[in-house]
Amino acid sequence: MCPRCLVTTIDGMKEFDVVTVRGLRKAYGTRTVVDGLDLDVRAGEIVGLAGANGAGKTTTVECIQGLRKPDAGALNVLGYDPVSEAAQLRPLIGSQLQESALPDRLRVAEAVQLFATRSARDGDELLEQFGLTARRRSAFSSLSGGERQRLFLVLALLNRPRLVILDELTQGLDPAARRDVWAAVRRLHEAGTTVLLVTHEMDEAEALCDRVLVMRAGRVLDSGTPAELVNRHAHHASISFTWPGEVIPIPLLDELSQVDGARQLERDGLRVTVRGDRGTIAYVGASLVRNGTVPTDLNVHVPTLEDALLSLLDPEPDRYAPVHARPRDGDELVGGLR
Ligand code: ATP
Repeated sequence: MCPRCLVTTIDGMKEFDVVTVRGLRKAYGTRTVVDGLDLDVRAGEIVGLAGANGAGKTTTVECIQGLRKPDAGALNVLGYDPVSEAAQLRPLIGSQLQESALPDRLRVAEAVQLFATRSARDGDELLEQFGLTARRRSAFSSLSGGERQRLFLVLALLNRPRLVILDELTQGLDPAARRDVWAAVRRLHEAGTTVLLVTHEMDEAEALCDRVLVMRAGRVLDSGTPAELVNRHAHHASISFTWPGEVIPIPLLDELSQVDGARQLERDGLRVTVRGDRGTIAYVGASLVRNGTVPTDLNVHVPTLEDALLSLLDPEPDRYAPVHARPRDGDELVGGLR
């Protein structure tokens, strides 16, 4: 037990666990922002923390790094208590924090020199690996957003950390720079480094993370692989198209509204949307081909991690409850098509 707070160390931590957190609690003043959080990160995993603004993600990773003192809970990071053994733990963690910045005039190579400890990796090799060799002599202020993030990754990795913590790594980067940074994180993963990643970008979490925890108001709402979260919380796929002729054939609408898994058929003029499960997409496609047409503006939406996150953070009654969308003779919908 840490003498100055209620934090206890976890004796039963397994050897392959890099981070074990039980019942983490942290308040700022009277406001509790992390409220009984449990978290496990195993060696070699990339684990994502996602959720609403102010959910307590950054506070959580700051407690894990020993930058903030928890009010209660049990934490073990790489075998150390981040509160009472912060000095031993710090050299084992490489971090790129949300508010990272370096002095404007500091050159890239100087930054690497400044951050390197005696056991550091070869800085030039890392700069080469992250595509920064040509920028060795450039001042920090002259780097693009993507180059800065890659430099922070170099600095985070320099001292051979066993755990890397990345907080909103690709915020504000253009699509190409984001892909570069993702590729760099994948290389870390392949080299067996354990990564804890705070992100609002669900495509990023889907692309990089083995597991994701979704937080709201200091608590974990659910966790799992991206696919598990999608399966549990984002059910609806949809396929839409504009019928290329002047009138949509009634038998086709009839058929589409009955394909396997279809839950709703919506029509707006010649535009048709069928919602259902993933399989619905295949059946609608097959129906269209059987009816001799493949519309050029066919648009497919499959459930994503972002859908799962939105549904977790803001649950609402099933918008697409099964409806009998099948057009019937004399039905207003059908009549409107003629
Ligand atoms: P975001 O996604 O917006 O970065 P987050 O999930 O990382 O948010 P935190 O940064 O941990 O959340 O903040 C949790 C809450 O605690 C927020 O309401 C924030 O305003 C508040 N907070 C954070 N740091 C402090 C502090 N030093 N003093 C007081 N309140 C703070």
